[in-house]
Amino acid sequence: MKIGTPKEVFDGENRVAMTPDSAKQLQKLGYECAIEAGAGANAGFTDAAYEDAGVEVIKTAAGLWKAVDIVAKVRQPDATELKRLTSDKTLISFFNPAGNEEGMEAAKAKGANVIAMEMVPRISRAQKMDALSSMANIAGYRAVIEAGNNFGRFFTGQVTAAGKVPPAKVLIVGAGVAGLAAIGTSTSLGAITLAFDVRPEVAEQVESMGAEFVYLDFEEEQADGASSGGYASVQSDEFREAQLAKFRELAPEVDIVITTALIPNRAAPILWTKDMVESMKPGSVIVDLAAERGGNVEGTVMDEKVVTDNGVTIVGYTDFPSRMAAQSSSLYATNIRHMMADLTPEKDGQVNHDMEDDVIRGATVTFEGEITFPPPPPKVQ
Ligand code: NAD
Repeated sequence: MKIGTPKEVFDGENRVAMTPDSAKQLQKLGYECAIEAGAGANAGFTDAAYEDAGVEVIKTAAGLWKAVDIVAKVRQPDATELKRLTSDKTLISFFNPAGNEEGMEAAKAKGANVIAMEMVPRISRAQKMDALSSMANIAGYRAVIEAGNNFGRFFTGQVTAAGKVPPAKVLIVGAGVAGLAAIGTSTSLGAITLAFDVRPEVAEQVESMGAEFVYLDFEEEQADGASSGGYASVQSDEFREAQLAKFRELAPEVDIVITTALIPNRAAPILWTKDMVESMKPGSVIVDLAAERGGNVEGTVMDEKVVTDNGVTIVGYTDFPSRMAAQSSSLYATNIRHMMADLTPEKDGQVNHDMEDDVIRGATVTFEGEITFPPPPPKVQ
């Protein structure tokens, strides 16, 4: 069978779902590989590099979609791409099934099988296919770099002939995958790094990375706002008040705030309020990684950078992985390649779409003319 990757059509998307390296691995699984001309250009992969890796370069998107059995891409397909699905094709990409009824109906009507990368179950065996984590890791790293780019000072403290420079103080709110990446980046740049999460079990991890975990002055244990299956749940009013009181206390002290707090299937909680923004020092920077889900910060504008009247920069970009397209394409293409390995147990270039396999079942949102989303809970944890 032939697997192919078109150029992403979403405005400003620089990533690509196949790299020359991943193509070589896909060929070892028995597949022929194809790519649309120019698909890797914005991520630094030339057509010639693909050709050297044994990949057929096809001139147009229409030609590519027609020629292949499996389409691997990054963003959920748009209307034109959905029209290109057929009953003998498998699509592997982000698909946003919970908010893309139309897409699922279109794929069902076409009889195409769709694997949604955000639905890969978060179990140990599937970590190598976990594109949400690989992209969140990049977003966390890039959030710190973006903050540094907008902050007019050093992260690390210095004693120089021209004077003593204090280290920057960075607060990371939410210590999941993106938050932990941000913590690692911030401490490695030498900033004093504080981190908070409603899941107290991450405190040890935060401290082992050289950051300080922020504890609340709260009678009950911090776990009040905490977890189901590694994710956060909604907090009680008392817990939220204690959290906001602590943040209010920290706001005038911190130079950089990076927020990453999310609760599954809900809008992002507002955790950094207008009065906190107003009490920050001029020149401070906030990067709101929850911007796409409404934001953790009052004043975030999605996909924009705003500067408040008191000189605080709030960054609400939602395309951090695309801003590091070479890195994110390499990791995403590796996630796809591992998914293909799972789909090809015999390494014979033939897809075996085994709906008894927890990972494949969990990620499949349409199969043989049926919508198969949401999946049943995974059997193996
Ligand atoms: P996420 O993006 O849903 O949330 C980000 C973080 O925000 C979470 O740590 C959450 O606890 C935190 N948060 C929510 N409300 C908050 C609030 N009011 N204040 C502060 N923080 C708040 O989560 P994620 O990063 O995708 O993953 C969360 C956890 O899932 C990971 O830390 C890990 O334990 C688990 N996980 C497991 C696997 C695996 O086993 N393969 C893969 C990825 C993640």
